[in-house]
Amino acid sequence: MATSNETIVIIGAGVTGLSNALYIQEHLRPSQSILLIATHFPHHTSINYASPWAGAHYRPVPGSSPQLVREECQARRTYTFFKALAASDPASGVQALEGIEHLESPPDEYLDDTLVANSYGHLDEFQLLDPPELPEGVKWGARYKSFVVNSPVYCAWMLRRFILRGGVVREYTLADIMEAFQVAPNVKTAVNCSGMGFGDPKSFPIRGQTCLVRNPCSATITRQNADGTWSFCIPRPLDGGTIIGGTKQPHDWTPTPRPETRKTLLDNAAKWFPFTPESGGRFDLIRDIVGRRPAREGGMRIEIEDLAPGKTVVHAYGAGGRGYELSRGVAEDVVLLMLERGLLRERQASL
Ligand SMILES: Cc1cc2nc3c(=O)[nH]c(=O)nc-3n(C[C@H](O)[C@H](O)[C@H](O)COP(=O)(O)OP(=O)(O)OC[C@H]3O[C@@H](n4cnc5c(N)ncnc54)[C@H](O)[C@@H]3O)c2cc1C
Repeated sequence: MATSNETIVIIGAGVTGLSNALYIQEHLRPSQSILLIATHFPHHTSINYASPWAGAHYRPVPGSSPQLVREECQARRTYTFFKALAASDPASGVQALEGIEHLESPPDEYLDDTLVANSYGHLDEFQLLDPPELPEGVKWGARYKSFVVNSPVYCAWMLRRFILRGGVVREYTLADIMEAFQVAPNVKTAVNCSGMGFGDPKSFPIRGQTCLVRNPCSATITRQNADGTWSFCIPRPLDGGTIIGGTKQPHDWTPTPRPETRKTLLDNAAKWFPFTPESGGRFDLIRDIVGRRPAREGGMRIEIEDLAPGKTVVHAYGAGGRGYELSRGVAEDVVLLMLERGLLRERQASL
């Protein structure tokens, strides 16, 4: 019988760490096993653990920067993955839903047919809205089949799946990334899905304040306001209420909700989003949410670093505001890097 004598350590139990853990599990050699360590797991609530606070929905971001081109490829693969998952296992908390975008002041990239085709072309039922279909004040609009994710449910679902497939987890805080090589015998590879990295000067938070309400909504709608702010509603599958958002505030470390922000978010949602008429523009508030999107200048860091002979780190952190919609593509990129370095084996059988 083969014995497990090499431990791969995954750092982080957010959407990035869990997505990587599940996909790496499919490529283990018989001699390898995974230990996932993290300060926070899906049953925790902490401002420094972004994943449970996300909306989360799937919304493309057109652009031609190297970061956006790379993300477009990762998002496309996640879309395919979510499509299969939503159809096969609704208990995962991932569900297909109509997505609508209304932009009052569209940036140039939304007016570039090629960039729009690159980032939206893969979406089922995609159509640009004709001027008569646009609400007052809106200059660009689109609709398509999107996906919404009940983020705490999806993370808990992934964690359970990882454990059922033989994964081991430990609540543990690393003081230094080198410590990852000491938490189990024979660790040669650590996968760094820590959100902000370990003291990376390029990492920074983007504060997001949203509200979770009980009111149901029939679509996920994003509206860009002329002043550059955003309004969105994201129904959470499995009767999880609706997220109304939201702010995007780089470098803002304020951990508590601002009451004036809540008022603006709810006032805008009452004006623009199709909540059922019986709600009368009033919201049944479950809670305010404040989260920190773990962003990084230049985008996510996905690369291999050799810290010492026989001690390799695969970095996968800095997902910013798109951790869910990039999650599967990121996991595939990480596994590809590991395969190229001979750290895993090609997938042998479907799990
Ligand atoms: C309000 C809001 C709305 C959002 N909406 C969307 C959306 O609609 N769509 C979308 O795709 N994304 C959305 N996001 C972004 C998304 O939440 C993040 O991109 C994603 O959660 C990042 O996941 P992560 O796993 O990389 O990091 P995190 O979820 O922050 O997880 C980091 C993990 O690393 C662990 N860790 C860190 N340091 C250490 C250490 N030293 N030792 C041990 N463990 C450590 C933590 O405990 C944690 O388990 C939203 C975010 C917010 C805040």
